[in-house]
Amino acid sequence: MYAEKLKQIAQIAWRGSAYEAGSRADETDEHVPEATGGRILLLVEPGGNREQLAGHLRELHQVLLPHDGHFPSEPFDLAIVDAAGFRRWHRQLIDAKLREEPTFLPVILIASRRDLRRRLRLFWDTIDEFVLTPIDRGEFMERVAMLFRARHLALTQRSRLAFVVNHDRLSGLPNLNLFMDRLTSAILDATVLNKPLYVTVVHVPLAHVLTSLGHQGFDRAAAFCAKRMRELLGPDVPLAQLGAEKWGLIHPVGLPMDGVLEVCGRIRRLAEEPIKVDGESIRVSPRVGIGGYPQDASDASDVLDCAISALAGAVDAGPMFYSKSDQDKALRFIRTESRLHEALEHNQFELWYQPQLRLGDRKLVAVEALVRWRLPGGQLVPPLDFMEVAEATGLICDIDRWVLAEACAAVHRWREQGVGVDRIAVNVSAEDVRADDFADVVEDTLDRFRIPSTALELELTETALFEISGKSLDKLNRLRQRGIDIAVDDFGTGYSSLSYLHQLPVTSLKIDKAFVKDVDTNDTNAAIIRTIILLARNFGLDTVAEGIETEAEAQYVTSLDVAVGQGYLYAKPMPEVDLRRWLRERRVAAGAVG
Ligand code: C2E
Ligand code: CA
Ligand code: CA
Repeated sequence: MYAEKLKQIAQIAWRGSAYEAGSRADETDEHVPEATGGRILLLVEPGGNREQLAGHLRELHQVLLPHDGHFPSEPFDLAIVDAAGFRRWHRQLIDAKLREEPTFLPVILIASRRDLRRRLRLFWDTIDEFVLTPIDRGEFMERVAMLFRARHLALTQRSRLAFVVNHDRLSGLPNLNLFMDRLTSAILDATVLNKPLYVTVVHVPLAHVLTSLGHQGFDRAAAFCAKRMRELLGPDVPLAQLGAEKWGLIHPVGLPMDGVLEVCGRIRRLAEEPIKVDGESIRVSPRVGIGGYPQDASDASDVLDCAISALAGAVDAGPMFYSKSDQDKALRFIRTESRLHEALEHNQFELWYQPQLRLGDRKLVAVEALVRWRLPGGQLVPPLDFMEVAEATGLICDIDRWVLAEACAAVHRWREQGVGVDRIAVNVSAEDVRADDFADVVEDTLDRFRIPSTALELELTETALFEISGKSLDKLNRLRQRGIDIAVDDFGTGYSSLSYLHQLPVTSLKIDKAFVKDVDTNDTNAAIIRTIILLARNFGLDTVAEGIETEAEAQYVTSLDVAVGQGYLYAKPMPEVDLRRWLRERRVAAGAVG
């Protein structure tokens, strides 16, 4: 009868705070004691009220006692001690409370009035509540129930907190935190079992939803995708939410590749039907990346990174496996990018010059300016090692503006000093021309260094030129009208249409060095060069052969009537001091001959 009433009180008290169990709570391994049936440790000396108290408590709870003079090793939810029990076990009680920190583990003291008067201070750090002797059964049971409720609340909060820390706020799915814990233990299992383990990362790009339906629409779209993927995967494949539009799954240890692909195929069915958000039908197309242990990486974080970097190569057609070289490339890319910023800030670029000679009489007609990057340690980085990054990040514009100014300053200097170099060719990328102020910058730079337009030639690769149209083409036309020459660099390597070439404001074709190589013995190269020369003649363009390395190549292109040559045979690209020395030596040699 009494027990029934207490049970009711306890249940009512619980209900207000109880954290609803179910799928969410299942995700954590927390022990939350039931309203009744908790574990109470009774540390009352046998001489005291032990049997009587144990009798009361057993009506509702499980009672633990020390066995053979040892503190029990089982966990408990509440301890009851008397003064003698406290003296004997207080160290163990403090340890147990510390182990549970910050969660409340209550301890009740059964005390006489004399104990309280004399020793209450001693008990402060360990005791949360006391019950005076002689014990009133009703009061005792109520106090136990109250503390038990406080314990229950603390545990509930702990498990809720664990849930919040380990789950996504919107989807309720395990988050990156929990995913990494699970992946770490799955990798341990795979190591022990000596079997492979695959991780899949799914990315569903939803940026278009964010821009059209705002962040709430985005959240709903993401939640919808998560729900659909759970349906497609079924209850046996756990899905985790790794980011706003990224999900992850850890395949069972030892699942072979075809099993992994089958699961990934289910995810890809997300693309089959549009999702419905705020009344709108939205098409989504998931991309799937796969990383594996042990073949791609040896720890959880690296395996996940492999799956994420595999995403970059994933296309709509199917999942993408991680490839080490892709990742190395990506890593090199970001490192180069950040160092290029530093290079610009700290003037680590140098300009080198390579002479261009008129083939008929080997007279110097110009130099080509070629950029070099000098690292703080002194090493020189050739442009091909950083051009791709510089172009992809737009940093090329800053670099080329520096190059242009440096080149114009050099020509100005050389003209003033009568060094014998009056003209300079500068490389320009399509990215440069796209900048609104491209033509202004070129003109301003010429004006700033007071050099005539005819002293400057811009080199654009065939590929770059054919990317240029509309406004950008107008900019080139404007510069051409001002008298600046424009060369098509690496001519023959692109896929230019002849009719388009005719519309471009170009003045010369620079035959790519690949065709110059062994031209004296390679019939195909000779035929290509002959065709290019014919084309140039018909369009009224000059020709330059680059990459001339041997006397035989030089004679051959000269015999074909190529106007200008450039290559290691004459000189490699060099810094200004070396160029000046080279010019002096040539003059001396010419003087000696003459
Ligand atoms: P490019 O414009 O075709 O430059 C010619 C490249 O061929 C240069 O390489 C040069 O050193 C090399 N070369 C010259 N003569 C010979 C030869 O006889 N044999 C061989 N095998 N190679 C020869 P570099 O300086 O490494 O430049 C590579 C590319 O980087 C350039 O190709 C150009 O596309 C780009 N680049 C260089 N400087 C700049 C710049 O300031 N701005 C832009 N946008 N691109 C630049
Ligand atoms: Ca060039
Ligand atoms: Ca070239």
